[in-house]
Amino acid sequence: MAVTLDDLLWATAHQIALMLKVRVVLLLPEGETVTVRAGFPPEDTLDESDIAAAKWAWANNRAAGRGADTLPGAKRLFLPMQTGRGAVGVVGIDRDEPGVLLTADQHRLLDALADQAALAIERVNLADDVDRARLAAESDRLQAALLTSISHDLRTPLASILGSASSLNAAGAVFDEATRASLIGTIQEEAERLNRFIGNLLDMTRLESGQLLPRTVLSDVPDVVGAALQRADKILAGHRVAVELQPNLPLIDVDVVLFEQVLFNLLDNAAKYAPAGTQVRIRSWREAGTVKFSVDDEGEGIPPADMERIFDKFFRVRGSDRRRAGTGLGLAICRGFIEAMGGTIVAGNRPDRVGAVFTITLPVPAQARLIAESVQ
Ligand code: ADP
Repeated sequence: MAVTLDDLLWATAHQIALMLKVRVVLLLPEGETVTVRAGFPPEDTLDESDIAAAKWAWANNRAAGRGADTLPGAKRLFLPMQTGRGAVGVVGIDRDEPGVLLTADQHRLLDALADQAALAIERVNLADDVDRARLAAESDRLQAALLTSISHDLRTPLASILGSASSLNAAGAVFDEATRASLIGTIQEEAERLNRFIGNLLDMTRLESGQLLPRTVLSDVPDVVGAALQRADKILAGHRVAVELQPNLPLIDVDVVLFEQVLFNLLDNAAKYAPAGTQVRIRSWREAGTVKFSVDDEGEGIPPADMERIFDKFFRVRGSDRRRAGTGLGLAICRGFIEAMGGTIVAGNRPDRVGAVFTITLPVPAQARLIAESVQ
């Protein structure tokens, strides 16, 4: 694991204090000035004259305070910690006994320790800068992906809607009943697709801004599963749907709107990524203090290396998935919602045949356990 700046500062202060038998404070820049970041003993505080000397040492890159030419009235001596590239902070030392603070030898040792610390601090700072640059690049990449995805996912259905509507407008009267119905059907389906897409974007925004607070209620598994299946009815029209719910499942403590959305996203993916005519199965069973749900399909499954990444925003496994409408947001939303409700969701491949399986685990709520016990 990388050394954090705080660990490093603490270790440096400790080392200088032990080797020179002095009290140590380390100050790092913050805006125009410097502030205490570590000390040994840790509870030491600086008074006004110390602070003035520390700031002077930082601003002028020279020693100040006790025993120095500038501000000798301060309790401590402050030295800049520097590397070839400039100062990275200030070290302050003092000793309880009055008189000479450091012998010439001790002064040289302090200089050496301060230089060594400065190099280490600079390395950590550089590593942080690299991390920040990487994060900025990552968020740029996400924004670019979002824009591409939005323009693709908004324009594809919009183009179909516009096309169908203008055909109806221009030649509606001459079309036969079936053609008109098919054009209207396209408009409706594509508008629904747009609606889902925008809904997903909004959900993601709410999740990320922390505005999403689940309103959980004790709910009946067959009701929630039934509602999700009903919503996915049209999408699953080309597949065989199997539902396997263990009898007498306990109630689950979920926000029904969010939970239904999760199941819907999983069913939507199964329908999208598994060929028409194959089976999509939704199951629920009780297992050791939890209620589990799975949605599995008979598609290609998920490459093992991508098992975690598919839950990332905008991640899509295959380039060819671009052809299928999607945003790479569905699973990120599933995980966000499920975790907000205290559960987990993982992806896997089916053990019995080729195909993906998504498994949700929810704790059995304490109230539901009591209700179940009082019924028995
Ligand atoms: P979207 O489906 O909009 O691309 P998701 O976040 O729902 O976004 O899924 C992310 C990616 O995970 C998909 O692009 C696809 O590559 C893969 N994936 C999701 N569900 C399945 C599945 N049932 N079978 C195979 N791959 C899947």
